Amino acid sequence: MSFKVIPKAALPDWIEQMRRSQRVVGPKPLHGQHVFGEIHGAAEIDLDYPTTVIPPKKYLFPQQEDLLTYKLDGSAPSVVQDAEPTVVLGLHTCDLHALHLLDRVFEKTHVDQPYMARRAKTTLVSIECLRPCMSHSFCKSMGTLSVTDGFDLHLTDLGDDYGVDVGTPKGAALLDGLKGVREATGDDRQRVNRIMTEKWPRFPLRLEFDVTELPSLLSVSYDSKLWDELGERCLACAMCTNVCPTCYCFNVADEVELTLTAGKRYRVWDSCQLDKFATVADGHNFRAKRGARQRHRFFRKGKYQTDAFGLLGCVGCGRCAQACLVDITPVDTWNELHRPATEGTKEAAA
Ligand code: SF4
Ligand code: SF4
Repeated sequence: MSFKVIPKAALPDWIEQMRRSQRVVGPKPLHGQHVFGEIHGAAEIDLDYPTTVIPPKKYLFPQQEDLLTYKLDGSAPSVVQDAEPTVVLGLHTCDLHALHLLDRVFEKTHVDQPYMARRAKTTLVSIECLRPCMSHSFCKSMGTLSVTDGFDLHLTDLGDDYGVDVGTPKGAALLDGLKGVREATGDDRQRVNRIMTEKWPRFPLRLEFDVTELPSLLSVSYDSKLWDELGERCLACAMCTNVCPTCYCFNVADEVELTLTAGKRYRVWDSCQLDKFATVADGHNFRAKRGARQRHRFFRKGKYQTDAFGLLGCVGCGRCAQACLVDITPVDTWNELHRPATEGTKEAAA
């Protein structure tokens, strides 16, 4: 839509202005790491953060949320509607790409009402990453190192100022009346171009092949012996999926009060890496082996989501690699599958 500039000195006023009408959440330091949490003032937010433990998807798809409450008196159940107007300030571009995927997943085929209600009340303000956030990230390889759309506002750190790409009227409204905001000049645009040109060489390409080959690579790797090797190492702890911005599997359960007169239905994040995830009637587990679960996870990330929704299921944030105690990582797994034609790792498991 347009390109503006705001001085960094205006950040306290800007946050204060936004907080008058809605909740503002953003990255803040906690115990040596960073988490997304509510921001009450500019002193709390750290927009120059490495990454967060849990991605900002939690504001659209919370770890646990009530879906409906009911009474056993014959009355109709009540749908829980607690979506709150929220500005998510400072998303990295990988996390914005992850939300693109979740938008498609929760909109297509079956409209997920709790997600869509939150999405309608959420304003996304992303920020350009100018250096790798950690050694495990591989956003450049996955094509998520930058964004052209999907944000309401997108910030670029220009030193004393932020360049602000205005993506939607909802984003533009966040700047209404803010002192210090101005239209970008030709010099400002040159500053952005220079910063963008300088940033790309700082990011390594960590996949040893072009990511567009990933779905077909996986197609021919279903019987690789690598899956059994990963299964031998995997602890089935589910940390990799718990921290992933694109994972969205959940379980639905009922909780009835002790008096048996009322209850609620809620949903909670689930994980394909847990033993019980694929256990069905009669105790049958259709994905009992850990190797099969690892294969399923990496196929979801590199092929199944692309087949179903046209977007890769991994945005290269590196959180799963950081979280895994036995060093199972997407980069190592996919590179290993790519090498084998010469090294034999594509052979079918005996
Ligand atoms: S699979 Fe790992 S690297 Fe990819 S998006 Fe999920 S957490 Fe990030
Ligand atoms: S974090 Fe590592 S050990 Fe835990 S389930 Fe995932 S791959 Fe397995």
